[in-house]
Amino acid sequence: MEVVWRRPDRSVGRYTFGDLYRRARALAEALTRAGLKKGDRVATLMWNHSAHLETYLGVPCAGGVLHTLNLRLHASELAFIVNHAADRYLIVDDVLLPCLESFRRDVKLERVFVVPYSGNPAPAGFEDYEAFLGGATGQFAYPAIDENDAAAMCFTSGTTGRPKGVVYSHRSIVLHSFAEAVKDSFGLGHHDVVLAVAPMFHANAWGLPFTAAMVGTKIVLLGAHMDAESILQMIVSEGVTIACGVPTIWLGVLDELERNPGKWKLPNIVRAPCGGSAPPESLIRALDRHGIHLVHLWGMTETSPLATTGGIRAHMREWPMDEQYKVRARQGWASPFVELRVTRGEHEVLRDATTAGDLEVRGPWVASGYYNAPEEQSRWTPDGWFRTGDVATWDDDGYIKLVDRSKDLIKSGGEWISSVDLENALMGHPAVKEAAVVGVPHPKWAERPLAVVVLKDGAAATAEELRAFLAARFAKWQLPDAFVFESAIPRTSVGKFLKSRLRDQFAGWKWE
Ligand code: ADP
Repeated sequence: MEVVWRRPDRSVGRYTFGDLYRRARALAEALTRAGLKKGDRVATLMWNHSAHLETYLGVPCAGGVLHTLNLRLHASELAFIVNHAADRYLIVDDVLLPCLESFRRDVKLERVFVVPYSGNPAPAGFEDYEAFLGGATGQFAYPAIDENDAAAMCFTSGTTGRPKGVVYSHRSIVLHSFAEAVKDSFGLGHHDVVLAVAPMFHANAWGLPFTAAMVGTKIVLLGAHMDAESILQMIVSEGVTIACGVPTIWLGVLDELERNPGKWKLPNIVRAPCGGSAPPESLIRALDRHGIHLVHLWGMTETSPLATTGGIRAHMREWPMDEQYKVRARQGWASPFVELRVTRGEHEVLRDATTAGDLEVRGPWVASGYYNAPEEQSRWTPDGWFRTGDVATWDDDGYIKLVDRSKDLIKSGGEWISSVDLENALMGHPAVKEAAVVGVPHPKWAERPLAVVVLKDGAAATAEELRAFLAARFAKWQLPDAFVFESAIPRTSVGKFLKSRLRDQFAGWKWE
């Protein structure tokens, strides 16, 4: 089994699982010799590559807590997070030293190890990660670890409010790995090759390092190259069978495939577990035509992250394709051992696929509190369900469909409008590359929808055309009252549409 990764100069590095094991174990020994105590936090500031994988395995095996820092956050947020977690050590890519410098003054780190990711030795004043590993003797006994001890922590990416820390235990990670590996979920096996497109600092790297290590799946990592061309290159050259990323990644891949017909010959059908935001039905359909089978799932940093798996149930196999695609665009049913419910006040709402309510979740890998944040405990019900902040419907087959994040729902004249439904419909228009819809203050209706649209290269569409296109599917009062054409939609640190920025940008919109 191999680990393959891209270096900054785009060259490809590779080693075996045996090398991964030896190096992760050397890291565990070196950290223990450096005085790491059980529960100490070891932070990482790294792209997706082999050394990051080593930390995923080596730090928890030493009894430490792996804390992956989101390298796209603002310096003040990073300082807040490092201080809040009280990180003791940091392992950082040489190419990310400028990022570290931006907040180093504001944090206390005992030791910093620099990974020569670009091949250069650590600059003066820093410790070298390779030299640190080289100090290991091979004489190392794993510490006794209780299954409930902390193994890793991750902060929410802060799409809504200040990042909050979530701690994963050895137990929760092991159970999550089993659930992730099952066939209808990520479906990882020994014969697969998995590409982790999602950044390894996002939501516990979607659990992939642990699941892949558990079942022995070859792992492919993109380094800092997360663009569509690099993704397709690695899929082709490494024979990737499973690739995991957020919808915006797949929108980019689709664009590349469609702009260059015949250029990319995928070696096999690629299974693409996809979540983080809702993939439009049109994306699922179009990717199928290119041999990429999107598997829709829903999860959160707080749920490790896997909580549902979408797709077709056995009794739906003969349904018309249009019906099947509708089902595949839903977020799916609960993963094994995860419980879901949709509530309004004290009661569960009807499972009629229409009535929306607050989505709540609980299970063995669902957080029961945020790290050192008792003021946030109201996010959990007294009987231990996590209030996700997502609004959903559910049905008799057990599928949930997310209507929106409660903060993104558009409240117009006492009625709710789903921004997700509108934007996903818009992204089904042939001229539209991306679309985000936000609620903008309105003197009469409280809020009205405004659509921000990015057109495909060389394509044209007017506001009237797009409105007419949507009118076939939505009631008149649900249609956006304004369409704004932009060259890009701002993104969060993990590639979701940054709707809070759009809301700020259009807060003063003058309605006609
Ligand atoms: P942040 O909350 O900072 O964005 P997360 O990455 O943990 O950090 O985001 C979890 C949220 O992402 C969920 O609460 C939900 O709103 C959204 N999400 C995740 N998966 C999906 C999905 N398949 N469809 C729609 N929204 C999703």
